[in-house]
Amino acid sequence: MYIRSGEWVTISSIKPIIKKYLKSLQARIFLFFILVGVIPVLLMRYAVLTNYESQAVEQKAQLLERQCQQILEQISESEYMHGNDSDQVDRLIDQMASLYSGRLILVNSNFRIIKDTYDIDVDKVIISEEVLLTFQGTNSTNYDEDNQFLEMTIPIVNDDSGETEGIMIISVPTVDIANGKAGISRIVLQLQSILTLLILGVAFYVSRILTRPFGKITQSLEDVAGVNDEEISIPDYTETQLLAEAYNRMLKRMKAQEDSRQEFVSNVSHELKTPITSMKVLADSLLAQEDVPVELYREFMGDIAEEVDRENKIISDLLSLVKMDKRSSDVHIEETNINQLIELVLKRLRPIAGTKNVDLVLESFKPILAEVDETKLTLAISNLIENGIKYNRDGGWVHVSLNVDSKYFYIRVDDSGIGIPEESQEHIFERFYRVDKSHSREIGGTGLGLAITRSAVLMHHGAIKVYSREGEGTTFTVRIPLKYVP
Ligand code: ADP
Repeated sequence: MYIRSGEWVTISSIKPIIKKYLKSLQARIFLFFILVGVIPVLLMRYAVLTNYESQAVEQKAQLLERQCQQILEQISESEYMHGNDSDQVDRLIDQMASLYSGRLILVNSNFRIIKDTYDIDVDKVIISEEVLLTFQGTNSTNYDEDNQFLEMTIPIVNDDSGETEGIMIISVPTVDIANGKAGISRIVLQLQSILTLLILGVAFYVSRILTRPFGKITQSLEDVAGVNDEEISIPDYTETQLLAEAYNRMLKRMKAQEDSRQEFVSNVSHELKTPITSMKVLADSLLAQEDVPVELYREFMGDIAEEVDRENKIISDLLSLVKMDKRSSDVHIEETNINQLIELVLKRLRPIAGTKNVDLVLESFKPILAEVDETKLTLAISNLIENGIKYNRDGGWVHVSLNVDSKYFYIRVDDSGIGIPEESQEHIFERFYRVDKSHSREIGGTGLGLAITRSAVLMHHGAIKVYSREGEGTTFTVRIPLKYVP
């Protein structure tokens, strides 16, 4: 616990701060640099020291062997191994031992020690793995790092016969190598410390520089959020530029959504106001006149009732549309007999078709069972068939056909009606869009029917298309998957 500006700062209150820092890209880049930079620096010390040691030992061994070879020649010439005393050889051996502050031993072919510069083991028998191997002609060099000495066993070969007459064992201390190693170790340690500090500095600097664009992004987003809807540009990295572009696209989409929402609200207000204005005009004109004849009252009240119906229709269509827009919680999917569903729709619409003298025909090829929301699909198909009847000519026809394959079922509604001009075809699914506003109003249209249909079809992950020729007729095709995917 420590105090900062009068308040207690506990370890537990620092923990989340550290956790947050470790989660940051800057911390990760910093740690990565340390890992990539510091570990090799640490390994470098080990590599340098072992490399130095092995080279120093090898050089020393080579030197020793070279010098021993000179003595060995003398030994061979003087038949020293066969019991011939030679002061010269003794002197050479003693000089060599004292030169290296080491010990030299000569072993004859009976494994008996005939010369020991320490004079401890003379006449003793020595049999070891190295000795046996050396008698077979193999030199051996042993470096004992812990006790700091180097031991070599060299065969003494008779120049004339080529026989191994004995072996020479020389063991010398390697304090010089250990000292050299300690010296190098100190230098490397200093170098390591400098390098580590340098890497820490570079890691800190680079991690800050690399993550600076992200700070810029946050700043840019904070600057534009809620205040204005300017587009942002952060070209520091490809990634940040892509992020900025994605943000700009999202901004555009949100703007479009906001525009469409505002347009919808103003359309709704306008549509709802129109019948009310008419009613107000009708009522005012009745009130303005005195002694209004009953027939006129009746006529105007009839008109007012019609406007009320219209208002009602707009409100119920709007409610249907809102329901379609809602998320899947409002969806009631059940396995439904589509043939029966369409037959019911046709049965309900037949009287209306009758009044317009329009022939209503159903053609279905196979029985269809599909997972659908019955109410929503019924509304969607009713709107299509109702339009076929509404925008038809006297004595025309509406042809509904049903089909199915392994994945989808298809509903097709053809009519012999007035058709839709080509330039209007892409707009008819928009809310409140009507090709001929007054004609649609006359026949009780709200401009919401196809928007409802499209929402219902999309809710089922289906597709709807329109084909039409002005004056000839219109075809709507709907494709819906048999299995509902939430
Ligand atoms: P409405 O309530 O006006 O019928 P819809 O959304 O159902 O609204 O249709 C939008 C417009 O598309 C209609 O006003 C009409 O002009 C046109 N339309 C829709 N269906 C047909 C059709 N079968 N034949 C000709 N025009 C159609």
